Amino acid sequence: MVMLLLACVSTPEGLDAAALDAAVTLGAQVDDAALMATVEGLVEARAQDEGEYLEFKEFTLYHAEARRWCTDTLTAMGFEVVTETTTEDGVEVNNLLVDIPGASRPEELVLLTAHYDAVGPGADDNGSALAALFEAARLLQQDPPARTVRLVLTDWEEVYTLGARRYYRDHQSDDVVAVVNLDAVGVASSAPGSQRAPTGLVLPDTADFLGVIGDADAEQDAFIANQIAEAMTPPLPLLTLLGPGDLDNAASLHLHRSDHSVAWAYGLPALFLTDTADFRSDTYHTPDDLPETLNPDFLAQSARLTAALAYARAEL
Ligand SMILES: [Zn+2]
Repeated sequence: MVMLLLACVSTPEGLDAAALDAAVTLGAQVDDAALMATVEGLVEARAQDEGEYLEFKEFTLYHAEARRWCTDTLTAMGFEVVTETTTEDGVEVNNLLVDIPGASRPEELVLLTAHYDAVGPGADDNGSALAALFEAARLLQQDPPARTVRLVLTDWEEVYTLGARRYYRDHQSDDVVAVVNLDAVGVASSAPGSQRAPTGLVLPDTADFLGVIGDADAEQDAFIANQIAEAMTPPLPLLTLLGPGDLDNAASLHLHRSDHSVAWAYGLPALFLTDTADFRSDTYHTPDDLPETLNPDFLAQSARLTAALAYARAEL
């Protein structure tokens, strides 16, 4: 367990042996083939997408076909997909929500979030995360935990996290107990020198770990994530960073680079799971972010952790 406690607080309460076993057992049921099928389905859908060229960003955003594909796939899995549409400042945002109603405390929410918009085919960024969320949802649906688990698939993350900004602004009265945001969770390598680090952070040299980044309020969730990752077969190496603080230094800027940053701004305990994207992947935001660049075993491990963590947090 590598935990760098940037903000040191009391020892968090973890899962007891029975709860840990139940969570790990649920995560172990992740279907590896289904994960890659989701990534490939999304990439194929985006290939049919004309995209939207954004002059001010100098890139093309692909979201319409991915939105349709996610809606159709989740509907076929038996879920009701709610599309939340807002049009402001000339920008239409369509976030997709799926609830797995809690068995005994349905008003309390655990959010699993990932963006579905992409710059290019987006196999790692962010098909990998969506694949993990779909598998978590499939498993949780079979035996719903106490709290409601809500998938939030955000639009326009690639542009100032606009989709998440509207989502959290419009859901401030929700009773959210935990947020787990995934952004790029499928690239890994065991080659020395395969991991780079942002200025101001020292990371291991080998890109074989999953990053777990949280605010101080998410310390307990980070602790539980580490318990689960160690108990999995095989274990998943994590690198945990807590308490990113303000935006005043170069390293902490990178820790804010996805939708969880908006959850932090609203005072919610949020974890960010990531393979570190461009600090590891050479195809980040390029036409080469394709399924064959993923490490299917690593993606499966990321998905097992995600499903187990959501289950544990929705039960605790
Ligand atoms: Zn992303």
